[in-house]
Amino acid sequence: MALALYLDDSYARECDANVKGVKDGKYAILDQTIFYPSSGGQPHDTGKIIRGSGGEKEEFPVIFAKKFGGEISHEVGKEGLAAGDLVHCVLDWERRYTLMRYHTASHILASIFNKRTGALITGNQIEVDKTRFDFNLENFDREIINSCIEEANSLFGQEIPIKTYYLPRSDAMKIPGIVKLAGALPPEIENLRIVEIGEIDIQADGGTHVRSLKEVGPIEIIKMENKGKSNRRVYFKFK
Ligand SMILES: [Zn+2]
Repeated sequence: MALALYLDDSYARECDANVKGVKDGKYAILDQTIFYPSSGGQPHDTGKIIRGSGGEKEEFPVIFAKKFGGEISHEVGKEGLAAGDLVHCVLDWERRYTLMRYHTASHILASIFNKRTGALITGNQIEVDKTRFDFNLENFDREIINSCIEEANSLFGQEIPIKTYYLPRSDAMKIPGIVKLAGALPPEIENLRIVEIGEIDIQADGGTHVRSLKEVGPIEIIKMENKGKSNRRVYFKFK
C-alpha cells in the first residue's frame, strides 16, 4: 500500500510521488501520498497531482480518495496519468486544515460527553462547515449538552499538545476508553495508532489532527435531534 504520509505528518501539504498504476483512466495509485482517504468519519482530501514542470506541466485535480482493496485510490478529474509517472501532489490545505480542526474538536467534545453521561458515541461525521455525532442516551438534556460545550470551549485555544504514536494492540487495549467509537476498530490491525490530547482524551484513531488545542476555536451547537428511543444526534460548528 502507498506510504500514508498524513499519518505521521498531518501538516505535510505537498509531496513527490511515483504513479504505481491507474485504473479506468482516472483512479491513480501512488507509492506515497498526503491525500487522506475518506474513512472514520473524516472526509477525503482534495487537491492536485502535477506531472512535469515548466511548459510541460500538466495538472490533474484530485476529486476523491478512498481505500479500495487495501490501496488508496485517488480519483482524478481528467484522464492521462500513467504508471511510472513522477508527480508532485498538492493538498487543498484550507479544506484539510478545517477538517483537522473539526476532528480534534470532535474528540474533545466526545470525551467530555462520555465522561459526564457515560454515553457511547455510535457515529461521527466531519464536514467542512459542521460536524455531527451520534450517541446513545436515554435522557437527552439540553443543559448537559450546553455544559459540555462550555467545558470544551474552555479547553480550546489553550496550549495543549496532541500527540500521535503507535502501540501494540494488546498494550493499547489496556487503556480504558481507548476505543470510543463503538465497533469501529478493524480486528486485523496489530499496531494501533494512538491520538492523545493532553490528559483529556486518548484513543485509537486513523485521522489527521492539529498539533495543539490552540489551533481549535470555540464551537456552538447548530442542531440536536432524537433519532429513536435513545439515539441522539448533535451538530456543532465553529463560531
Ligand atoms: Zn477520530
